[in-house]
Amino acid sequence: MTLPKRKFDTLVIGAGGGGLRAALQLAQADASVAVVSKVFPTRSHTVAAQGGMNAALANVSPDNWHWHMYDTVKGSDYLGDQDAIEYMCRAAAKTVIELEHAGVPFSRMENGSIYQRPFGGQSQNFGGDQAARTCAAADRTGHAILHSLYQQNIRSKTHFFDEYFAIDLVKDEEGFVLGAVVLEIETGEPLLIEARTTLLATGGAGQLFRTNTNAHINTGDGLAMALRAGVPLQDMEFFQFHPTGIAGKGMLISEAARGEGGYLVNKDGERFMERYAPHAKDLASRDVVSRSISIEVKEGRGCGPNGDYIHLKLDHLGPEVLDKRLPAISESIRTFLGVDPSKDLVPIYPTAHYTMGGIPTNKSGQVVVPVDTGEEVIPGLYAAGECACVSVHGANRLGGNSLLDIVVFGRAAGNDIIEFLKENPYHRRMSQDSVDQALSRIARWDQKGEGESVDTLRRELQTTMEEYCGVFRTEEILSEGLGKVLELEQRMSQVRLQDHSKIFNTARIEAMELENLIDIGVATVTSALARQESRGAHSRVDYPKRDDVHWMKHSLYYKENRRLDYKPVRTKPLTVESFPPKDRVY
Ligand SMILES: Cc1cc2nc3c(=O)[nH]c(=O)nc-3n(C[C@H](O)[C@H](O)[C@H](O)COP(=O)(O)OP(=O)(O)OC[C@H]3O[C@@H](n4cnc5c(N)ncnc54)[C@H](O)[C@@H]3O)c2cc1C
Repeated sequence: MTLPKRKFDTLVIGAGGGGLRAALQLAQADASVAVVSKVFPTRSHTVAAQGGMNAALANVSPDNWHWHMYDTVKGSDYLGDQDAIEYMCRAAAKTVIELEHAGVPFSRMENGSIYQRPFGGQSQNFGGDQAARTCAAADRTGHAILHSLYQQNIRSKTHFFDEYFAIDLVKDEEGFVLGAVVLEIETGEPLLIEARTTLLATGGAGQLFRTNTNAHINTGDGLAMALRAGVPLQDMEFFQFHPTGIAGKGMLISEAARGEGGYLVNKDGERFMERYAPHAKDLASRDVVSRSISIEVKEGRGCGPNGDYIHLKLDHLGPEVLDKRLPAISESIRTFLGVDPSKDLVPIYPTAHYTMGGIPTNKSGQVVVPVDTGEEVIPGLYAAGECACVSVHGANRLGGNSLLDIVVFGRAAGNDIIEFLKENPYHRRMSQDSVDQALSRIARWDQKGEGESVDTLRRELQTTMEEYCGVFRTEEILSEGLGKVLELEQRMSQVRLQDHSKIFNTARIEAMELENLIDIGVATVTSALARQESRGAHSRVDYPKRDDVHWMKHSLYYKENRRLDYKPVRTKPLTVESFPPKDRVY
């Protein structure tokens, strides 16, 4: 059977906010754009973003992009690249207005201007009073952004391949990336999409952990595709645990709940964040609040019969604020916990949330890898959104900065691709080897029979990651964790799809997602074990201090031989002075 082929100028893998913003830029420039998504586009995880998107509009408190930049650099624990951060913070206001014009119904104030709420780690005047910088459409901001971008893409004639699963990138002999092999989920038929450029916008890998806020589909496929194509992953040891997941279940209660005035209390009713972050209190950055919650529980001040969670107090806000500003969150609390936030305390505990690491890119979205002479761009390959590491979030992302990141860098990648297409007007001949390799990944799952099950392995991986690579880490725990993850990698070869009379293609997809998760798990634990310091979300009990002398550098993990390399943090911004590392207090 011959492999069916389709040809486009450009391929975008992923239809979240990052992919759709890039696709829109390209379609409006009259490029032929294919967007591939394993779920219907508006079911991408961006739809679940609640709290909002940061931009220094100064509608509620005095503000400017430079203060936003300072907060982001500090939030990143000085691991973020300052040129990319300056670029993002400067672009933020324009980006929000563009989205508004694309149809996003941002919440308003009495005077008609866009409403902004305070979020963690936001300050006025370089570390002064709390700022209110997060633009929101109530608590359904991601939903509004994703639907608007999807509609604009339909209008601009972007070609969608809905419910197609990307398997692997294809290249030519010289290393140009020329598209991907994808699988139509409904029929199980493979398809080769040829393109002069390919953008990975496949989102994060929250499904690595048992308790997480992410969608079931967030399995980091793009990260694993990059690894298999020889691209290293940057800063994978930094995984964000969000302080307020619904206890025992993991679903998110947005930081907006604290932004609107909610706060955390322990079993004695004490507002304990006053002890850990006297100035910012409950709106300290996420790594700080998550650690504080874990410590309260460890030291016996947790709530509930087992003392294993903390309470979020919202009842004092009153039904009006809850209904107007936090309607979806209030509904989640009622549905998943059966309690009423306008009367009851809400049980919460930190939950895995956001992949700070990812595919190394520059601020045009080009994928860059180190070579002897410096850095080199992989021709034809781009990445944007949560799967990319620009790096604007460094060791810890600030709330509201991811929606901003995906839209700003999705747009920037679109613009750079337009230039690339002008300079590379012809399709190149791809290597048959690389097509065959991708196809062999599909064929592997045609074998059926007795063996280990995908489900069991996925659950074991998630539990292992949670237990051995969670909020607090040590050499001993991580080494043991690495052993376990490598064992799972071995066992993967024994996995078989059960020989039922009918195997749905979704079972094959889940098997391939598990392969991807295992690769990313190994990358995460390996990078975490090597980093002997505590910075941002990476908290080593055996190395409790940040070590700028030895560790102010990005890690790069290669699949081949599980090799680690490092590269310097770009501390020089575009136009302003650098923010040198300081002690990080909130
Ligand atoms: C519950 C929740 C709330 C959040 N709230 C906020 C917030 O208030 N503010 C904020 O700034 N950030 C928030 N975040 C983070 C932010 O929403 C995400 O980081 C961001 O939306 C990711 O966008 P993306 O475009 O990179 O990827 P996603 O929106 O995750 O989209 C990924 C896309 O890739 C596709 N895909 C993946 N793998 C494949 C494959 N193999 N083949 C084909 N397609 C594939 C998927 O189908 C999907 O279309 C939140 C995150 C969560 C989980």
